[in-house]
Amino acid sequence: MKFAQILGERIEAHPGKSATCPVCEASVIAKCGEHRAWHWAHRGVRNCDPWWEPETEWHREWKNRFPAHWQEIIRRADSGEKHIADVMTDRGVVLEFQHSALRRDEREAREAYYQNMVWVVDGLRRIRDRPHFFSALGSGKILAANPMTIGLRVKGNALIRDWGASAVPVFFDFGDAAQPDDPLNFIKPILWALKPQSPSDMAILTPITKASFGAFFAEGRPYETFDVSAALNRAGLAPASPPLPPPPSGRDVLREHFARTFNARARRRF
Ligand SMILES: [Zn+2]
Repeated sequence: MKFAQILGERIEAHPGKSATCPVCEASVIAKCGEHRAWHWAHRGVRNCDPWWEPETEWHREWKNRFPAHWQEIIRRADSGEKHIADVMTDRGVVLEFQHSALRRDEREAREAYYQNMVWVVDGLRRIRDRPHFFSALGSGKILAANPMTIGLRVKGNALIRDWGASAVPVFFDFGDAAQPDDPLNFIKPILWALKPQSPSDMAILTPITKASFGAFFAEGRPYETFDVSAALNRAGLAPASPPLPPPPSGRDVLREHFARTFNARARRRF
């Protein structure tokens, strides 16, 4: 954990300090080594929140894109069950940064618990996920030119298979460095947004800039997407006729999703 409590205040780990876990109130000790980001740890081996995963630099970088008072927020259900959300925005949207593998039932349990949430998934954890994803892009179908929207076959793509049935938006982070054999190159660091509940055989994805992901949640600004109409026209290519019901024309499915979830806040369980 980045934060624990000392005299009721949220404090970051410092060498030699001890503090109180905000979830179970046990005492936690500061771990301030050279290899991992400074953090608080329980004296036992396990964290009291079974959903907690050891933090990587990747987690910290993502959390630190948001204000400190949005980070590591404890959510409590009516049943008394408590979990630490990586980030919760001032509009109540939970952002979970997922590095390690998650079983399907665990993913579903967390989506049901938080409801109003999105996943940001580390696409670099498994060595083959990135090359598989980008090679699938080369044969993906362009479903819309603006914003650029691509349909990818799920078959043979482990990452998409793991996350494709998610009921909430998923954003894949493949790092900021383009590779020489990428079929698409973007000038700015991007995330691939997966449409919630894409059809079972095809994932529908829209690239957005990474910077605009933060701006969306912090300031409500729209995602920065890509318009490839001109490029397709120049190449004499119209977007392929979609083999599926097309996404609602001219509407951004993600913004629509959030408009819905923001409006549904009053119905939330928390
Ligand atoms: Zn604890």
